[in-house]
Amino acid sequence: MRSVSIFGATGSVGEQTFDLLMRAGGPAAFDTVALTGGSNVMRLAEMARALRADIAVCADDSQLPALRTALSGTGIEVASGAGAIADAADRPADWVMSAIVGAAGLVPGLRALRHGRTLALANKESLVTAGTLLMQTAASHGARILPVDSEHSAIFQALNNEDIACVERIILTASGGALRDWPLASLATATVREAMAHPNWAMGQRITIDSASMFNKALEVIETREFFGVDPDQIEVILHPESLIHSMVGFRDGAIMAHMGAPDMRHSIGYALNWPTRAALPVARLDLAQVATLTFRAPDLARYPALRLCRDVMATRGLAGAAFNAAKELALDHFLAGGIGFMQMAGVVEDTLSQVSAELCQGNAVLTLEDILGMDHLARVRAGEVARRMTGSR
Ligand code: NDP
Ligand code: MG
Repeated sequence: MRSVSIFGATGSVGEQTFDLLMRAGGPAAFDTVALTGGSNVMRLAEMARALRADIAVCADDSQLPALRTALSGTGIEVASGAGAIADAADRPADWVMSAIVGAAGLVPGLRALRHGRTLALANKESLVTAGTLLMQTAASHGARILPVDSEHSAIFQALNNEDIACVERIILTASGGALRDWPLASLATATVREAMAHPNWAMGQRITIDSASMFNKALEVIETREFFGVDPDQIEVILHPESLIHSMVGFRDGAIMAHMGAPDMRHSIGYALNWPTRAALPVARLDLAQVATLTFRAPDLARYPALRLCRDVMATRGLAGAAFNAAKELALDHFLAGGIGFMQMAGVVEDTLSQVSAELCQGNAVLTLEDILGMDHLARVRAGEVARRMTGSR
């Protein structure tokens, strides 16, 4: 029986992974090793019972007593804290879902790779923050990373193991998020609730707002560069409001392979779960006559400064990805807390990148986890200072 673990089980991707495991037979079909969550321990305990996990771990230490009570008498072990989550990644599991949100997903993912596991990677922040380290760790330990982000799953499927040297361009599609049709001048006053109204995808709060600002797409451009090893100038972004083409690969003979399907993450999660075969999945089938029209347009960089900033990050390399992601996470925290406006998030990230520029170890420097976590911390401190200075200056 295949053994599995889910990191970030209580989130949007985690729930959909759980759904697929349960539909496939739950504990009769999978041996569940570890399930981890943040603070939603009631849901974590329900999932651990349903899948008969060996251990349930919450990030939030204050929730450990509640988790212990909820699982008492089941024989399921409990633990809490970032260290315990990372330790859970040392437990043997054939397939590990990395679906923690933010840079907190990096260390558990790395630990799983060091044991040669197959890592289904939803946590794009770990590739942005530590792409070289992650890919090298996978290669040197015989581990495999399977992309779960819908665009990267689409590219992986469209590539279909062809020689990457035959690829001319990779075209990432973007819905444009909740605010794509707002007048540019109104974006400054967009609220969290408004930025959360995503037209096509139901996702966690942070990625939904990142979709509206296109910071999500900026992360995905870097993720593409790190995962597929193509040059930055081979990666294009196109607005595709219908979200039915999940991304495309253009080959040197002029052919473009596009991956289509309903906007449902259970496709890319299920693809990674069943790879290298395909299993029937509970996703809606497209009725192309009903779809009738697919539209595309070039993104406006004045509206989406994140798309410009990710180009600078790729040109710099070194620790720029770690700084970019950390500053973005901090800027989003301040937007969620009401301190800064929607368009100020990009300003926080840009100012932070220039403040830490001397410490970015440009180029292909070999970076350790300590270097990366050090930059993650520094960029959060600097971004916090920048955001606090901006507060109230909307
Ligand atoms: P959610 O916010 O819905 O869920 C995040 C998960 O991480 C929850 O289980 C949460 O726990 C847990 N968590 C939060 N903070 C921490 C922490 N500090 N340490 C450990 N665990 C923590 O996120 P999504 O599911 O939307 O996204 C997960 C990842 O997948 C992100 O990297 C995102 O970019 C990526 N992704 C998501 C897609 C989607 O459709 N949602 C699509 C493509 C990529 P709890 O809720 O219990 O507090
Ligand atoms: Mg995506």
